Order: sequence, then structure tokens, then C-alpha cells
Amino acid sequence: MRIEKADRLKNLPPYLFAEIDRLKKEAIDRGRDVIDLGVGDPDQPTPPHIIEALYEAAKDPANHRYALDLGLARLREAIANWYERRFGVHLDPEKEVLPLIGSKEGIAHIPLAFVNSGDVVLIPDPCYPPYRAGTILAGGQPRSMPLLAEDGFLPDLGKIKGRIARRAKLMFLNYPNNPTASVAPLDFFREVVTFAASHDIIVCHDGAHTEIAYDGYRPPSFLQAEGARDVGVEFHSLSKTYNMTGWRLGFLSGNHDVIEGLRKVKSNIDSGIFRAIQLAGCAALQGPQDHLVGLIRLYQERRDVLVDGLASLGWKLSKPKATFYVWTKSPSSHNSAQLARLLLEQADVVVTPGIGFGANGEGYIRMALTVEKERLKEAVKKIGEFHKSGK
Ligand SMILES: *Cc1c(COP(=O)(O)O)cnc(C)c1O
Repeated sequence: MRIEKADRLKNLPPYLFAEIDRLKKEAIDRGRDVIDLGVGDPDQPTPPHIIEALYEAAKDPANHRYALDLGLARLREAIANWYERRFGVHLDPEKEVLPLIGSKEGIAHIPLAFVNSGDVVLIPDPCYPPYRAGTILAGGQPRSMPLLAEDGFLPDLGKIKGRIARRAKLMFLNYPNNPTASVAPLDFFREVVTFAASHDIIVCHDGAHTEIAYDGYRPPSFLQAEGARDVGVEFHSLSKTYNMTGWRLGFLSGNHDVIEGLRKVKSNIDSGIFRAIQLAGCAALQGPQDHLVGLIRLYQERRDVLVDGLASLGWKLSKPKATFYVWTKSPSSHNSAQLARLLLEQADVVVTPGIGFGANGEGYIRMALTVEKERLKEAVKKIGEFHKSGK
């Protein structure tokens, strides 16, 4: 029998990291000592009091059953309190908060609630891949908003054509940004609110990296902009803040009608989040936050080692204010895939080619600060030797 996949799967963009994944595996199989700056999955453990809360909650049979609701009231309150403390944003825990099975889950599903076949979804280019994939899976048409270095990697809303804006149903945004590590001032979010309100576009801001920022900088929430709640929502996640990527816990906050749309989609797809994980999430959001000071110091030291090291080799790059990524232009005429391949083959360093995040990522590579300082020093040394070899 012939198994024919649906067009929506065929329409997904090719997986552009496949080649680098394959080369990495081959190098490891050959016994090479590969330094992986590719994926960007926190290397530090989840703080112990969160693990303890999971353990306690897992022992209680009351937590073993379906969690068929909007998420536990306790978790929704913990999320609302966290927003209040961190951003001064007051949320109604019943109507304006929705826990998710990781923010990627909600990001990938939200177009199903609002996008009809052929509707336009505005996405940044380069961007975190689920914005584009979720749009295509829902039958929508992704339209790129270029993120350019000369604009500080903020989209130029004035360049979005009227006929595109009229057909647009959703807009994805993400600051601090993956992959460019750029940040947005609150004034930019105000501009977004005005633009979205004038074209009836729902804004989906992804704030996954707001807590990982350096040199005293505190990134704003989209919901701090006046009127933001009338036009949109913000995705957030425990993954980066609490080193909990494997746990799968995120949330959506903001506009009630938008939240209601995603809730309805989800009620037909999943049957809630394991209650023990929700209770551990309460422990994370309500418990001591001091691990974050150490975590930021750790990433900041790593950032300085990598950026100063590459700068000493003649690379032109600056220190990111937030996120655990370094985004930099290829120092040579190689395109991003060629450079990634050369760095792996000649220096045993895995980086992510910018083209994998969108056409405007061409010419750039992304490096993640999720390995130890000593390994980053080694990576710089090996890249230096690779330069000396004349390639
Ligand atoms: C890491 C990351 C997330 C977090 O995803 P989870 O599904 O919550 O683990 C979301 N958005 C961006 C841009 C990210 O880099």
C-alpha cells in the first residue's frame, strides 16, 4: 500500500539543520571530541526545591488522574502573581492565564484557533521555527517580516504592505529574540499595539527569554505596553528560567478571547498537564528565585569568554544583552551552511547555520552558551587554529 502524506506535511519547510546533525553524528562516531554550541538546551540542573515538589506531588494518588481543566487554579494564580511581581502586569488568573505543555505546544496550536485556509500570518525572519510550522499546519500563509541588523533586528512595521496587513490574522514576535539575541524596548511594543489594532491582527508575543539578561538589563513584557491586552497575548515558559526544558511547562497570558480560542483547540487535543508537574511549576514560580542570579552570572561569563575570544580572532560581533545565544555574521565569504560545516569538520565545533531560521538568517551563525567556560575557551582556540590553517 502507498502511504501518501497530507499536503500540510509536504508544505512544511525542509529541515535545514539535517546536514549539520548528520555531520555531527558522524564526527562523534569517528571519536572526535565535538563541542556542541548548536542546540541551546540549558546544561544546568533544575533547582532542587522544584524537583522535591515534583517528588512529593507524584506520591499523591489525587495527582495521578486526568487534569481536565484550565490548569490547576493554584498554578494559574502562581503565574498571575509572578507577572505582577516581575512586570507589574495584573492578570485575572481565571480568564487571562492558560498553562501549556511547554510554550512550543501552544505556539504550534494557536493558529488552529484563528487562521482560516489562506489567511496570512506575519512571522519574523529569521525566527524560532514553530511560528512558521504552526502556521502551515493550520493552512495559513506565513509572510516574512525581515529582521535586519541595521534595524536592531526589529521588524519595520511600516514596510508591511497594506494588502498583506489586511489579510493578516496573527503576528508572531519574540523578544529577547531567538536566534538574533536582540532585545526590544517597550516603545517598540507600543508601536506594535497601534499597528495591530488598526489592522485587527492578533499579536502572539513569545517571551521565553525575558529572564536571561545581562549587565543589569531587565527585558519588558509585551503586556506592559498600553492596550497590549486588547490585541494580543504573551507566551512564556519555565524552560529557560528554571532549567526545565524536559519538564514541558509553559503558559499563555493576556487577551481572554484569544486564550479562550487556544483553550478550545487544546480541549480537543490534549487532556491536561500532569498535576505533579503543575505543582512543581507552582514551587518554581513562588519559591526562591536566587538560582537565577547565579545562572545569569554563569551565562554572562560564558558570553564574555566566547565573544571576547572570537573578537580577538578578528570576528566582528557584539555582546548580546539577553538570551544564551550569540548571533554573528560569518567572518568570511562562506554562507552559513558552509561555515557551519567547516567549523565542524576543521575545528570540531557545532554551530547552527542562520539559514535554518529563515532566508534573512543567511550569512549568520548562532552559538549557544550552554556549555562550560573551559569548553568555550577550547572552541575559540580550535577556531583560531582553523583560521591559521588559512581556511
Ligand atoms: C526555548 C524557546 C521556547 C521554549 O519552549 P518550551 O516549549 O516552553 O520549552 C519558546 N520560544 C523560543 C523562542 C525559545 O527559544
